[in-house]
Amino acid sequence: MTCELNMVLAQARTPAPQFVADLLVLALCASFIGKLSYVNLDFAMRKSREYVRLRNRMVDEQLVKRGINDRRVLDAMRMMPRHQFVSEEFKPQAYEDRPLPIGEGQTISQPYIVAFMTERLRLKPHHTMLEIGTGSGYQTALLCHLTHFVFSVERVSLLADQAGERIGDLGYNNLEIYVGDGSQGLPDQATFDRIMVTAAVPRLPNVLCTQLDKHGGQMILPVGDEHLQDLKLVTRRDERFTSRTLLRCRFVPLVGRFGFNSDINSRPSIF
Ligand code: SAH
Repeated sequence: MTCELNMVLAQARTPAPQFVADLLVLALCASFIGKLSYVNLDFAMRKSREYVRLRNRMVDEQLVKRGINDRRVLDAMRMMPRHQFVSEEFKPQAYEDRPLPIGEGQTISQPYIVAFMTERLRLKPHHTMLEIGTGSGYQTALLCHLTHFVFSVERVSLLADQAGERIGDLGYNNLEIYVGDGSQGLPDQATFDRIMVTAAVPRLPNVLCTQLDKHGGQMILPVGDEHLQDLKLVTRRDERFTSRTLLRCRFVPLVGRFGFNSDINSRPSIF
């Protein structure tokens, strides 16, 4: 009997060390995973601090020093995470003084030209905008931040989808992105307080001019050939349109009915 009892006890005791060992393994794993996620979090935080530093440097050196002084535009560009609008391989260059590829032969414009075009439109929080050429969505997100509502049109559906997702992730919901030929504008939603075209057109499209608000509506767009354009600011007062040339620039072509033919070779843009 005693012997049997001992056996039973022994059997009952056998799992105990195993249990403790299991617990130990579990605790070790948990602490390792904990450490790993701490290391990951620490790395992510340091990385995001580094992006903040690069962004501030971009604003100070590329924008303020070149004369951009609209406080709202500068503040918006200080907080907008431009690196989230480019693919992993281009993130390290996201705050450099140049355009970057965004896929489909298109580019995200140089920060300075984004700031310049945005500043020149003198955007107000109550404005409704039309943007043509959503691309990465970086400019669109800035417009969402600075205005009441943004309609944006993109010809390439993949880019439109990616842009919509990125902008949504940042918490903006004051926009609608359309896939199609933006060279015709959006007659059903017109008129707009402001229009921004971020691809080159061969000549000023009348159809876009007439979608501007009659009481001082303004549009900024690059007009020229596929190599070089003039950045123009058009203002509408009733049926009178005035146009001013602001600077020389180089954008990718707007491909569509009032843009260039679709067989045109897309080249990387300077801005
Ligand atoms: N502002 C964008 C860059 C735009 S690049 C950014 O911040 O990333 C120009 C964009 O215009 C490209 O994405 C291109 O696909 C788009 N595009 C070209 N022709 C178009 C058209 N007819 N209608 C709408 N978008 C067009």
